[in-house]
Amino acid sequence: MHRPLIAANWKMNKTIGETEDFIHSFLAMIKDVDDVDILIAPPFTSLSVASSLLENTTVRLAGQNVFYEEKGAFTGEISPSMLLSAGCSHVIIGHSERRQYFSETDEIVNKKIKIARKNGLEVILCIGESLQEREEGKTFDVLSRQLTGSLKDVPLEGLTIAYEPIWAIGTGKTATPEQANEAHAYIRQWLRDYGEGSERVRILYGGSVTPENIKSLMAEPEVNGALVGGASLKPDSFARIINGAREATV
Ligand code: PEP
Repeated sequence: MHRPLIAANWKMNKTIGETEDFIHSFLAMIKDVDDVDILIAPPFTSLSVASSLLENTTVRLAGQNVFYEEKGAFTGEISPSMLLSAGCSHVIIGHSERRQYFSETDEIVNKKIKIARKNGLEVILCIGESLQEREEGKTFDVLSRQLTGSLKDVPLEGLTIAYEPIWAIGTGKTATPEQANEAHAYIRQWLRDYGEGSERVRILYGGSVTPENIKSLMAEPEVNGALVGGASLKPDSFARIINGAREATV
């Protein structure tokens, strides 16, 4: 059984002050949690202050993106060593919003994963189908294509997969626990066929996770955690999701 991982993706939300307020309240709410891994991906500008406030806690930090070069003339981009020096242990790569608004292809995602792993960052790779692809019965084809392209020549160590159906992200429409489990089971089998270390990879569900639906999602055998957007922005809501995940997995 995998230890659950509950990760917050704040996207382009929260100033430095708002980050400080969140962390002060949140830490008081989760002080007894020792059976779930917790990760927060704030905007880059909040990483440093978050890292100081989270020192001596078990809450880890992730970047929301990384560039595929080590350094140089890439205005506006951020390197793996910058993320590490700002306190990150992880980075989210291939989020559907990056693919949609910034034209990230599986090839770019693959380059980003490679440089992140080379620098020792753990990677949360996001994959998932659109509504049209699901309705056309292409979900597994899309997942297979994204996994094949993104993980080309990448060992599975240090990797987490987030299954995030695009139609469920920020829409209030959650995949049913059965739909999530079915997709996760497909991903798990794909990883087994791909290579060594597949059983250690955690597969998170993402897409309108809330305190109300986390328990039924986490009750599914193939769901090892969640990547949470909107509902991670309030300390109380994120803490309730963490507690729901704990209750579902005892
Ligand atoms: C996300 O952005 O990764 C996400 C799952 O968002 P939301 O929870 O708001 O759907």
